[in-house]
Amino acid sequence: MRKITIAIDGYSSTGKSTLAKQLAKALGYIYVDTGAMYRAVTLFAMRHHLIGDSEDTVTKLVALLPEIHLKFMYNDALGFAEMYLNNENVEKEIRTLDVSRMVSKIATIKEVRSKLVDMQKQMGIDKGIVMDGRDIGTVVFPEAELKIFMTASPETRAARRYKELLDKGDEVTYEEVLKNVQSRDHIDSHRKVSPLQRAAEAIVFDNSDMGLEEQFERIYNYALRIIQK
Ligand code: C5P
Repeated sequence: MRKITIAIDGYSSTGKSTLAKQLAKALGYIYVDTGAMYRAVTLFAMRHHLIGDSEDTVTKLVALLPEIHLKFMYNDALGFAEMYLNNENVEKEIRTLDVSRMVSKIATIKEVRSKLVDMQKQMGIDKGIVMDGRDIGTVVFPEAELKIFMTASPETRAARRYKELLDKGDEVTYEEVLKNVQSRDHIDSHRKVSPLQRAAEAIVFDNSDMGLEEQFERIYNYALRIIQK
């Protein structure tokens, strides 16, 4: 069967990674969570006290970019690939609200984007990949055969993320999470370099009221139709 590239973009906490993982599993494709890569660079910046808007801080971080080595390693028990930053498993650290608060700023730095986009293009060179993020259908794989753009109301998304963080034992309030979702939406959609926007050919899914199973079935069927064409 011919292999295709599936690009999933959209706002934070719209269930992109859940859908991408389901599709990758069903099709036997590789799944890549590009948000994890931006989060890992952010964790590196936080650990080196390189968070802030000053030109000096950004210049220092950019100079250190060659020292940031990222890799995904598949964890059989979990059924997905975990993020490693300089050979350390940082899967847990990158999912905290602290990292979520900083990541969109770091993702505006054009040198950071260029490094990560190059890696992402390389990962997809043989197709057979499902990648999720903000600029996958527009910048990383503009030629992807299937592009999905996911959205849902900020309140629905914040409620989902709030529950996830509570389940992990994080002490957060719903209001904080809603504020973070709204602020990331704003920065991601308004930044100069590859802002979050729907690719013209992308199929839009608003899953505020749609169950995960129904959503998966519909998109999986789209994918099969394209693959069998
Ligand atoms: O997908 P996730 O919510 O983990 O992404 C975290 C942040 O990383 C996003 O809010 C966005 O600022 C940034 N990001 C990006 N481009 C991508 C993936 C993520 O700018 N392709």
